[in-house]
Amino acid sequence: MIIKSNLDEIQNYLTDSSNLKGYCEKVFIPENIDEIVECIKYCYENNIPYTISGGGTGLVGGRVPFEGVLISTEKLNRILDFNSNDGTVLVEAGVVRKDLDDYLANLGYFLPPNPTETNSFVGGNIACNSSGARTFKYGTTRDYVLELDVVLPSGELVGFQRNDYNIVTNSKYHLELSSGKIIEFDIPKLPYVNTTKNTAGYYLHKGMHLLDIFIGSEGTLGTIVRAKLKVLPLPQKVVGLIIFFDNLENSLSFITETRRLSKNSFDATNGENLISARLIEFFDYNSLSLLFEDFPQIPKNSSCAVWVEQEYSPDEEFKILDAWMEHISQFTTLAEQTWIAIHEVEHRRFAEFRHLIPTRVFEIVSKTQFQKIGSDVSVHAGIFKNYYLKLVKELEASKLQYFIWGHFGNSHLHLNIIPRNEQEESLAKEIYDKHITEAITMGGTYSAEHGTGKLKRKYLEIMYGKDIVEKMKAIKLQFDPKNLLGRGILFF
Ligand SMILES: Cc1cc2nc3c(=O)[nH]c(=O)nc-3n(C[C@H](O)[C@H](O)[C@H](O)COP(=O)(O)OP(=O)(O)OC[C@H]3O[C@@H](n4cnc5c(N)ncnc54)[C@H](O)[C@@H]3O)c2cc1C
Repeated sequence: MIIKSNLDEIQNYLTDSSNLKGYCEKVFIPENIDEIVECIKYCYENNIPYTISGGGTGLVGGRVPFEGVLISTEKLNRILDFNSNDGTVLVEAGVVRKDLDDYLANLGYFLPPNPTETNSFVGGNIACNSSGARTFKYGTTRDYVLELDVVLPSGELVGFQRNDYNIVTNSKYHLELSSGKIIEFDIPKLPYVNTTKNTAGYYLHKGMHLLDIFIGSEGTLGTIVRAKLKVLPLPQKVVGLIIFFDNLENSLSFITETRRLSKNSFDATNGENLISARLIEFFDYNSLSLLFEDFPQIPKNSSCAVWVEQEYSPDEEFKILDAWMEHISQFTTLAEQTWIAIHEVEHRRFAEFRHLIPTRVFEIVSKTQFQKIGSDVSVHAGIFKNYYLKLVKELEASKLQYFIWGHFGNSHLHLNIIPRNEQEESLAKEIYDKHITEAITMGGTYSAEHGTGKLKRKYLEIMYGKDIVEKMKAIKLQFDPKNLLGRGILFF
């Protein structure tokens, strides 16, 4: 096991992509699962608080420690098995997402939920129940987790499988560990969240499997060390389209209609319809303007852009492209300037386009002394358009520097405000607060995919109420009676 304590050596571990800065005494880097068990037992016996680290790409300060030690999963990076009979892959938690994606692509498979940040670890993806662009068609990481091996805070290594009997049949959950210790908790009744994505707090639903509670628990209940995941064969062909709009409202109407047609096609209720997007992503004008230099072909009179992808079989190519062009031309006068990706090199260029926007935003942030104020909000599709337009009106009036992009297929947006002075910072916080509270009031969530971490704890209480948050905390203490793991994540 590698142990680091020199500040120069551990500096990189004391922050994440939110830019929050923390502190810890030591960083433990176990080289295998036995060593991670040993490490956690040591913390338990010596009452040492510890935080688990994946790739550090989180945006809510979850892996940033403020006391005790940090345990990095980076050496648990082995892909252990691939089974083409049942389409599963067995991995350790520290496998970098990009490595897994490349490995699977070589075998003709893919893991559908794809967070944009491919430097994240699979364990981090599971701990955050990450999603991404393809979640529109394929759901979230949760839908692909079949088995988990978890080290509980007492140091016990426990395996959970979807096909065993660890299911919450009534509202009570009961688990007896091999040590004789009993974990027992009630499932509280959570307010209904009317969105297609939500990662706020613990996943607690009647009929859930116990492994579900670890997915999205953000490193507060146990340390995920190994997982068996369901993977799918790669589609034969994928077409990508980046569509430019001269009018914002029309782009939102296009998204609403594309969402409707695509959902119908998934349900196979509309045989004639050829539009079946697997992702629908949006970029506002300010985001596009960050790319003018790298992508001079962006039409200068665009007010925003939408990126879609659709899977198809080779014999359908012309039909599908015709259907898309006809659909697009109903909503924008810039239809002729739509970019099309069919070959791998073109798809890679689209991915660069997508990834460059947050990269450019981080560059601006790193040059200011202020933190980026970033949201991760989702509301119901029926109210999304009005919600978005109202937000933009307020932002325009405020004169703040802002960028919006997001997974609009899931009615999910990321607002990024970068204040330039203290006055802007306080105005930005005010607008941000209002934007999130409004979403929650309308049955939405403040956390569609990034989680709560240490930066969004107050919204957990606003969304679910004090009583539910107390019940979630009581569940945490069932797993972690000494409250050593991931202190400060989710709960104050
Ligand atoms: C540019 C950019 C784009 C992004 N796009 C997306 C996106 O499209 N969708 C999305 O969902 N997210 C996105 N993210 C957020 C981030 O990439 C994901 O949340 C990712 O899953 C975090 O993984 P990680 O390994 O980096 O975790 P870390 O940041 O290291 O940790 C995140 C949390 O998980 C816990 N944790 C990590 N590993 C384990 C483990 N093995 N066991 C228990 N707990 C653990 C940590 O304690 C922490 O609380 C993006 C981030 C960036 C910077």
